[in-house]
Amino acid sequence: MGYRFFEFEVARTRRVSPSVQRVTFRGAAPGGLAEFASGGRDQRFKLFFPQPGQDLANVPVEAGENWYARWRAMDPSVRALMRTYTVREQRRELGEVDVDFAVHLSPGPAAAWALHCLAGDRITALGPSEADNAGIDFRPPPETDWILLAGDESALPAVAGILEWISPATPVRAWIEVAHCDGVQALHTWADAEITWLVRGRGPSLTHAVSGARLPDGTPYAWIGGEAGEVRRLRRHLVGAAPDARAFDRKRVTFTGYWRRGATEEELLAELYAGSAAAQSARA
Ligand SMILES: Cc1cc2nc3c(=O)[nH]c(=O)nc-3n(C[C@H](O)[C@H](O)[C@H](O)COP(=O)(O)OP(=O)(O)OC[C@H]3O[C@@H](n4cnc5c(N)ncnc54)[C@H](O)[C@@H]3O)c2cc1C
Repeated sequence: MGYRFFEFEVARTRRVSPSVQRVTFRGAAPGGLAEFASGGRDQRFKLFFPQPGQDLANVPVEAGENWYARWRAMDPSVRALMRTYTVREQRRELGEVDVDFAVHLSPGPAAAWALHCLAGDRITALGPSEADNAGIDFRPPPETDWILLAGDESALPAVAGILEWISPATPVRAWIEVAHCDGVQALHTWADAEITWLVRGRGPSLTHAVSGARLPDGTPYAWIGGEAGEVRRLRRHLVGAAPDARAFDRKRVTFTGYWRRGATEEELLAELYAGSAAAQSARA
């Protein structure tokens, strides 16, 4: 399964842009982060926050294959608040991991913690101990001619990691939506990437920008992450059969709602869980 708990300690923080706070972690326990093994791309992992009034995050004793079922089985009023994040960069030689937190107007426990944490603060994480792990979704199928990436600030760490990973000269069209003009970041890639930055509320949305674009010829693979409603609209545009839709093969579109307007991550997960339970009982 390749996942285990780690004790992270804040090494330092930096405001990368008005709406992105970078927290650099090192390992709090002896051995540091030597066993943390990001596979790059959109490598996701979990952070656990204590409930108000608790000193420590209450997590299952062991990670193991069924950690999620065990965490769900815990009393919601005492179990840790769990949030999903992306490894922006791991520097193994320094034992450091960067995580970029989008900070916004209605911060929940994660964004608020990132804004106020100080060097030396500790937090529990569940992360990969093998680089080839199930927390990576960006997996272009064979015979992909070009790649489409789209996401907002919450998905920017993933888009940045994907751009760094893609083979040299691969054609890429990327759209990234940020809250401010100065949210634009320098992104490193060897791909043949055309990156379009969009400023929220000051021009087209991700879906409108992609739907108005001339896309390359050949077989595409698309990866979309960000606000769940926008992700759904853009996916519909890509896989839909309407005259103005793109008719991409559904198997060639990876899409993830990273957050939902007006909903906490618990609420988003509960919806997804209810949806998959309903789908399973409909199949049974
Ligand atoms: C696979 C995956 C990887 C992710 N990686 C990252 C990452 O690297 N960096 C990152 O910043 N986020 C990332 N996210 C999104 C992050 O998990 C959510 O934004 C999460 O809701 C933040 O937790 P919170 O405690 O701050 O807010 P919550 O308590 O979950 O929500 C509080 C309120 O904030 C709103 N909200 C939540 N996120 C945003 C946002 N980005 N912009 C505006 N309003 C928001 C909610 O709608 C809600 O109203 C990822 C999500 C997934 C599924």
